[in-house]
Amino acid sequence: MNTPQRRDDLVDLAGYHSPQLDVAVRLNTNESPYPPPPEFVDAWLEALRSLPLHRYPDRAALRLRRALGAFFDQPAERIFCANGSNEVLQTLLLTYGGPGRRVVVFEPSYALHSHIARITGTEVVEGDRRDDFTIAPERACALVREVRPAITFVCSPNNPTGTVEPLGTVEALLEAGEGLLVLDEAYGEFAPESALTRVADDGRLVVVRTYSKVWSMAALRLGFCVAAPSVVEDLEQVVLPYALAAPTQLAGELALDHVEAMGERVSRLIAERERLIAALGELPELTVFPSGANFVLVRTAGDGHALWERLVSRGVLVRDFSRRPRLADCLRITVGTPDENEACLAALREALEEVAA
Ligand code: PMP
Repeated sequence: MNTPQRRDDLVDLAGYHSPQLDVAVRLNTNESPYPPPPEFVDAWLEALRSLPLHRYPDRAALRLRRALGAFFDQPAERIFCANGSNEVLQTLLLTYGGPGRRVVVFEPSYALHSHIARITGTEVVEGDRRDDFTIAPERACALVREVRPAITFVCSPNNPTGTVEPLGTVEALLEAGEGLLVLDEAYGEFAPESALTRVADDGRLVVVRTYSKVWSMAALRLGFCVAAPSVVEDLEQVVLPYALAAPTQLAGELALDHVEAMGERVSRLIAERERLIAALGELPELTVFPSGANFVLVRTAGDGHALWERLVSRGVLVRDFSRRPRLADCLRITVGTPDENEACLAALREALEEVAA
C-alpha cells in the first residue's frame, strides 16, 4: 500500500510545538497559575446535571453570546464563540483566507496566525517590528497597502514579546487596508487598554479573546471574537455545526457570574508581573522587555538555549524562543504564583552565576 502523502503545500509544515516536561515549576504556556473559583466549579457541576446530553448543543450558543454581550456591552450579534481562540482564528482563516489570498503578520508574533494561514492555503507576508518589538505604523500601513491582505493580524499584548500596541497603530492599520484587521487580545485583560469598544457594525476590526488565561479555563477550550454582525454570520456558515460542546457553553456563561474573583486574580498577576520584571532587571546579563501580559520575555547575553537547559535541570520550565528568528537567546517566562516566581528567580540566579564562573 502506498503511504499517504500530505498535500504538496504542507510537505514542509512543522507542527506547533510547545514541549511539556514533567518538572515542579511550569511557566511555559501562559496559563493561569490559579484554578477557577470553587464556587464557579460547584455551580457548573450542578448545572451539568440537568443538561440534556442526548441532544445537540445550541448551535448558535445564544445564551453564552447574550451573557458575553451583556458583560462587554456588545450586542450578541457581534459575538462568535468557538473551541478556544485558536478555533476562532482558524474559522476566520477558513472563511476569509485560502488560495489566492494573503495575510500580513508582524513577526515575531503568535506562531499560530501564520501556521493556520499556511494550512488553509493562504499566502503569508511577514512585516517586521522595531527593535523594541512595537510595529512601526507607517511601514506597516505601506505594507498593507501594497499587499492588500484579506486579513492583517496584530497581537496585543503580543505573544511572545509582551508588547502592548498603541491603539493609534490599530486605527492607522484599519484606515490603510481593505481586509479584516484581526486583533488578537488573548492577553487583553492584563493590559491597560483594549480595542473592544472600537468594533463597529460596519467595521473591519475583529477582536479575539479567550477564556484560557484570565478565566482559568484552558482545559475547557473556549474563545470568542467581537466583530461586525456580517462577519459573525459568515463565520457561522463555515464553522462545523454543533462544534461548541454544551458543557463548555455552560461554563462560559456561568463564569461571568464570578467576575469579581477573576478581576482579583488579574490584579494579583499584574502585581506579580511587575515584581518579576523588577527582580529580573536586577539579574546580570538579562535584558527584560516591557510586558502588558501574564508573561515576560527576557534576552540573555549568553547562550539562551543553554540557560533554558540549566533552568530545566533545576525543575523550572520556561518557553525557549532562543532559536526563533528575531528572538535569538530569548526565553519567555509565564507569571506564576509568588512561590513559582521565586523558584524561577532563584534558579535563574544560580544558572547565571554558574555560567559566569
Ligand atoms: N492567541 C494568542 C496570542 C495566544 O497566545 C494563545 C494561546 N497560546 C491563543 C490565541 C490561543 O488560546 P486558546 O485557543 O486557548 O484560546
